[in-house]
Amino acid sequence: MRQANFAVLALSSLLALTTAIRAQEAEITFKSTELSPGFFMIEAEGGFGGGNMAVLVGDEIVAMIDNGIVPLSDKLFAHALETTGRPVDVLVNTHVHGDHTGANVNFREAGTVIFAHDNIRKRLLADDSPTGGPGGLPDVTYAEGVNFHVGDIEGRIRHVPLAHTDGDSWVHFPAINIIHAGDVLFHSLFPYIDIDNGGTVGGYLAAQREILAVADDDTQIIPGHGMLTDKAGMQADHDMLARSYERVRQMVADGMDADEIVAADPLAEYVADFDWNFISAERLIRTIYRDLGANN
Ligand SMILES: [Zn+2]
Repeated sequence: MRQANFAVLALSSLLALTTAIRAQEAEITFKSTELSPGFFMIEAEGGFGGGNMAVLVGDEIVAMIDNGIVPLSDKLFAHALETTGRPVDVLVNTHVHGDHTGANVNFREAGTVIFAHDNIRKRLLADDSPTGGPGGLPDVTYAEGVNFHVGDIEGRIRHVPLAHTDGDSWVHFPAINIIHAGDVLFHSLFPYIDIDNGGTVGGYLAAQREILAVADDDTQIIPGHGMLTDKAGMQADHDMLARSYERVRQMVADGMDADEIVAADPLAEYVADFDWNFISAERLIRTIYRDLGANN
């Protein structure tokens, strides 16, 4: 009897939670900001509606970088069409996560050709979630990178190995000095490094250095999550992670275990600027600790 009551209680709180999430989703809207003629950053407002996206509208084709979570996929699809005025021809997935691929099915059904790293297609094929399976699969895959052309503007898709996942790319538009970093950049947020999907801290830092090396003081950098930034903003994110990694590495070398390192609070000075509901200082410390054990 007690067990049955518990089950009823658990079910009712689950329903309350689901209703709360649905209500929040209903309040999320999308906003497009023109960063350069025909080039728009798309971001969700009013709650977590996925990562940052971009569309580039040319005379002949429309290209898009990333899309959003499954529950908002119809809303996003409609917003993108409103921004571009024409269906999207080419869509790039910067990595496999559902907050960047959740509307793959919507776009593909409308005739969009999806470009992604080889490992994204492999992972989506093995995935029975709504973003996986035949409906959401990339059509064109690459190992190192590929370029696409929207009129005179070249989009250079470049793979960075074992960074946020094992299938990350960033996209560089040299002609308009814009970079979409995908999730190898969380701006002013502790980053998520997905070790279970092949991410490594060393690869993540290397990917950031690769992007920083081609950016200049005027480059507009779209992070996977967080506000639009620039080279100095990204450098600060990179320095935070590099220092955090070094501090935890030193503590491990000194023989401390994960709980002792968390208690020592080596990331305390960054909490005010970088802490958020998804990745806390403790979670980043435990990720680095796990990475040091797994990858060194
Ligand atoms: Zn991600």
